[in-house]
Amino acid sequence: MTTRQQTNEYHIQKGVIAALRANSEPQLADRLERCMAGRVNGNPRARTCQSPGCLWCRAPMIQSWWRGICEWAAPGTSSLAVIALRTPISLREAVQRLRRSLRDVRDRLAQNSNPWRSVCFAGMVGGDGTAFILVQHERVKRHEVLTMLRRRWPTVVLKDLERETPLSTMRVDDAADLARSRRGVEPLRVVVLPQRDRQSVASSE
Ligand SMILES: [Zn+2]
Repeated sequence: MTTRQQTNEYHIQKGVIAALRANSEPQLADRLERCMAGRVNGNPRARTCQSPGCLWCRAPMIQSWWRGICEWAAPGTSSLAVIALRTPISLREAVQRLRRSLRDVRDRLAQNSNPWRSVCFAGMVGGDGTAFILVQHERVKRHEVLTMLRRRWPTVVLKDLERETPLSTMRVDDAADLARSRRGVEPLRVVVLPQRDRQSVASSE
């Protein structure tokens, strides 16, 4: 890592710490500050803060969630949808909207097409607002998935599962917001489960 990158990172982290203090979160700010000091001094014994607001602690958290999501996907019947969320709203809000929209798209299609009922999504949104969504579509062809997603997100790209990881760097206010929510990086996760099979539910009752 270059010195310039490092300087930039400390600058961002200081911004997050200041934002937390301004939002009456002095203890959380102290934790991030201690974590940063430990890293600056190269002290291996220093306690890491494990806050999603922290630039350094957040990266492994995102990577670990992402690995789990990739393991969940069946490569033969899954595709990776890359969706750019470019809106002035906060990152957390953008993720919530995406989650609702994906469910909405799937549910509408499932009303008239049984195979769509089994379509499900799992993914994460990176700090830059780029969503990496794994689409499990066992009974629906990939080109159909792409066509339907494009109606809602015209710039969506569908790929094979690749070695890509959502970006962990994010805007200061988004990082502070994530830290204050105290739910790790879970707010960046998008999960839409398959619809319950009404027939099998009915027969088991
Ligand atoms: Zn930390």
